[in-house]
Amino acid sequence: MKRIYMDNNATTAVRPAVLEAMLPYYREHFGNPSSLHWAGREVGSALDQARRQVADLLNCEPAEIIFTSCASESNNLAIKGTAEALQSRGNHIITTAVEHPSVLNPCKYLEKRGFEVTYLPVDGYGMFDLRQLEAAITERTILISVMWANNETGTVFPLQEIGAIARRHKVRLHTDAVQAIGRLPVDVQAAGIDLLAISGHKFGAPKGVGALYVRRGTKLTALIHGGHQELGRRAGTHNLPGIVGLGKACELAAAELETGSERLRTLRDRLEQGILAAIPECQVNGHPSQRLPNTLNLSFAYIEGEAVLLFLDMQGVAASSGSACMSDAFSQSHVISAMGIDPMMANSAIRFGLGPDNTEADVDHLLSILPPIVQKLRDMSPFYHERTPSRATVNS
Ligand code: PLP
Repeated sequence: MKRIYMDNNATTAVRPAVLEAMLPYYREHFGNPSSLHWAGREVGSALDQARRQVADLLNCEPAEIIFTSCASESNNLAIKGTAEALQSRGNHIITTAVEHPSVLNPCKYLEKRGFEVTYLPVDGYGMFDLRQLEAAITERTILISVMWANNETGTVFPLQEIGAIARRHKVRLHTDAVQAIGRLPVDVQAAGIDLLAISGHKFGAPKGVGALYVRRGTKLTALIHGGHQELGRRAGTHNLPGIVGLGKACELAAAELETGSERLRTLRDRLEQGILAAIPECQVNGHPSQRLPNTLNLSFAYIEGEAVLLFLDMQGVAASSGSACMSDAFSQSHVISAMGIDPMMANSAIRFGLGPDNTEADVDHLLSILPPIVQKLRDMSPFYHERTPSRATVNS
């Protein structure tokens, strides 16, 4: 059976050039970069090079990069580290209702400890109102935390405009840029960002490595205390092979950004148009134009998204119903709910996340198997048989 992986927003395959770059750091160059002897010295330059590769992609200084274990850690460090460092200045944080749990849950944690959090609502495209953001800022606001692009719908927030608002009010700006890396240009200077989280496994590096950009001079309290690694901001022996892989993946992302994302957009549009043409009463969830080039989130009236995924899986296609972290939580996606989508359509939302290994043949294969799956499930659905004429015209 042909296997097609279209869940690249959940994780990606390690790219061959990334693996090649990493292997020597498992074999011959196994030293600890904090050691003073030859084995440590010979890997120190690899750590420096990786830091430079990450910094080049983000347009910042190498000294502004902290290596972490994942983006969840980076987001926790950015949010809790800011809260603790700036608590004498204020206790108010602004975020959005559609952030990843690694942002929402640190915010909830801080709420239990006396901080106030504003969760900006979003519209049907998953976009929030910049005027509402500006109106929410008070004297006590110490942090704005908004994602660059949504992992479930692909909706892209206008970071440049958000950065201008944050600067005007002298409020620190953090962004979870996990889904934007390798898919959109990400420039911390142009957008005026103070803290930015990335994750290796979302763009061709391995799992277990991430980074946090911290603008020079930004006060941040460490979460992990121990040795002096990362200038005392994140203790723990460096995951050198992972860090080397992250650096290489950043180098590739910078070199291939334009052609890679255009290719993804062409494939995604082919899939989107093919599905909309073949399947009546289905809708795209997310912004029509301000959307990641690889992401397609769709709802099909009258049926459950989980059932579609199961049938796709039986035919070798890996897609998902939203965030991989929530896939066993049996709850409706908080992102789709926040967008105010009709509960029946919300229950049927599924996400395709295309990646560099997908081809036109993959898209065409999917287009040949998905319409019959949806029709089969509709034939079994009481809602389909009981549908009213007004329902039948929704988004058809
Ligand atoms: N932020 C976003 C937008 C994500 O999509 C994810 C992963 O699903 C994360 C954060 C967490 O990344 P990690 O798996 O590196 O902790």
